[in-house]
Amino acid sequence: MSGPTRLVLASRNAAKIVELRRILAASGLDVELVGLPDGEEVAETGATFTENALIKARAAAALTGLPAVADDSGLAVDELNGLPGVRSARWSGRRDGTREQRDEANNALLLAQLDDVAAPRRGAAFVCAAALVTPGGAELVTHGELRGVLLAAPRGSAGFGYDPLFLADGQTRTNAELTAAEKDAISHRGRAFRDLATQLGPVLGIS
Ligand code: IMP
Repeated sequence: MSGPTRLVLASRNAAKIVELRRILAASGLDVELVGLPDGEEVAETGATFTENALIKARAAAALTGLPAVADDSGLAVDELNGLPGVRSARWSGRRDGTREQRDEANNALLLAQLDDVAAPRRGAAFVCAAALVTPGGAELVTHGELRGVLLAAPRGSAGFGYDPLFLADGQTRTNAELTAAEKDAISHRGRAFRDLATQLGPVLGIS
């Protein structure tokens, strides 16, 4: 008996670890997901979500000797030619304060930038790239997208980041008014991770 295959998620974000564990459990694969050791953080220096996900997964695989999974995500706004994109987390330039305060500053700036933009041109998409890198050098990248529109004022208090401004196509509630399970089912990250989970088995040599 060799037990489950260990996989490391290149993140110390507890919510992401829980989300990916749920998705992996649903895929039926015999894997155990662990987080990065404390103090290890990899800089996101890439120009695209794919590059950043690969940079983080490669670093985590090299550091731990385990197959590593990483994701990178953000909001691409049509009217801003795809920005804030990979700059989503630090769009307002604010680096101090809590995550909630930085999210609020990002949302306020985005609302101001779209101040004079009418509803039909307020389209946007949450985008996610998820990467798997093995210590032996095998690499796999999947993508997920959630399209919607940006409202003129925030609604809801669940979720994080730009969720209160984002009304996904086909929904009547913003991402911040959905339950975690409802959001997972349609989200860019959920889609990318589910796709990755379906392709993990052959790359890791497990079923
Ligand atoms: P990261 O993938 O954790 O680096 O996320 C980058 C940034 O994109 C976050 O800080 C948020 O600003 C934004 N973002 C990514 N995914 C979501 C989401 O599901 N809801 C709201 N904002 C998100």
